[in-house]
Amino acid sequence: MKARRNKWVVADQAHAWHPFTDQEIWEDGDPLVIQKGEGSWLIDTEGRRYLDANSSIWTNIHGHSHPEIVAAIQAQAATLCHSSYLGLANDKASELAEKLCGFFPGTLERCFFSDDGSTALEVAFKMSLQWRQQNGQPERTGIIAFENAYHGDTLGAASVGGVSRFIKGYGEVGLEVYRVASFADLASLPQVVIDTASAVVIEPLIQGVNQMRPWPVGMLAELRAWSLENGLHLILDEVMTGFGRTGAMFACQKEGVIPDFLCLAKGLTGGTMPLAATLTTGEIYEGFKGPDRTFYYGHSYTGNALGCAAALASLAVFDKENTLADVERKGSFLEAQIRELPYVKEVRRVGLVIGFDIEGCGQEFCQKLRERGVLTRPILNTIVMMPPLSVTDSELEFLVEKLAEGI
Ligand SMILES: *Cc1c(COP(=O)(O)O)cnc(C)c1O
Repeated sequence: MKARRNKWVVADQAHAWHPFTDQEIWEDGDPLVIQKGEGSWLIDTEGRRYLDANSSIWTNIHGHSHPEIVAAIQAQAATLCHSSYLGLANDKASELAEKLCGFFPGTLERCFFSDDGSTALEVAFKMSLQWRQQNGQPERTGIIAFENAYHGDTLGAASVGGVSRFIKGYGEVGLEVYRVASFADLASLPQVVIDTASAVVIEPLIQGVNQMRPWPVGMLAELRAWSLENGLHLILDEVMTGFGRTGAMFACQKEGVIPDFLCLAKGLTGGTMPLAATLTTGEIYEGFKGPDRTFYYGHSYTGNALGCAAALASLAVFDKENTLADVERKGSFLEAQIRELPYVKEVRRVGLVIGFDIEGCGQEFCQKLRERGVLTRPILNTIVMMPPLSVTDSELEFLVEKLAEGI
């Protein structure tokens, strides 16, 4: 059945190609065309309202069109949209680098900007590997990663990821990767693999794309100790967990861990603009000084002033609205309500990130939710509930009501 197709649907189905999408099904479907955002809500071209229950694929933090972030973007657009970051600085990027490093005084002292989560990871991998080459450890060329991890879709980042359905089309192209399932499994790696690895990379506290699976409490701190003992860099992929999702500003703070590389993106601008940052230590930075040691990496839009202005405004909103104070309460309320629902098999949660399993019907269930004014995207049969941190109690009640109806 084809519903009324407005001109945007027609143009989309004729010309657009969507990410992670079976286009054959899409072309026969009934796509929503979003036109407006307001707080926790998205509004389509037909004027229908939907609660954004996955924060627009895990990016939004303070709600859509937050007035202070909008004002910052507007003011910045009227002043300077973009200037190259190659050989030039800009005021907003300077301020943001200082602010981000300010969360880790004396440890993560340097901020390298890029464009999205995948590139934040590419930067960390390249920095780690190049640092080894020019600092007397050229044999350290491997990356140790976790099974079912997700680190992005660019070729290098994808090759490190462990979700088989995402990487099977590329064969063996990519980095030299060794995968383990758990912290305990590190012990079973041959010593030669450990001695020739440059870094270990992990999504701290919870794997997102792997159906929202939390790691055992304390595992991150153990991994940090192990990486230090064995001389490996620790790369934390906080693309999803960063900026308050877990209840702390950064997930690593919950276990008192400071990595060698911290990768940030999605929530950095509050979910308004593509921007990413890779934070690293003075030790790594110093290893790039001197002749023939330049880090040859950058994009046209690196250090984009609009993105940096949005990020600064988002960080200011955290302070002004005391955003972090309520994350755990909202998350545990939602978890408790979901546990009351019939047919729910397992509920997994960290902060305001929840995954719950519904046997055999993830896609159908999300369609039922959409018909009732709630948007989210399943991962296989896991339903993801990750509303903006600014979600109100009455919006959470609405969400629970629609989940119950959908079931
Ligand atoms: C989304 C995500 C990425 C990739 O970020 P993009 O901005 O989509 O490139 C990497 N790692 C994690 C943990 C993510 O959730």
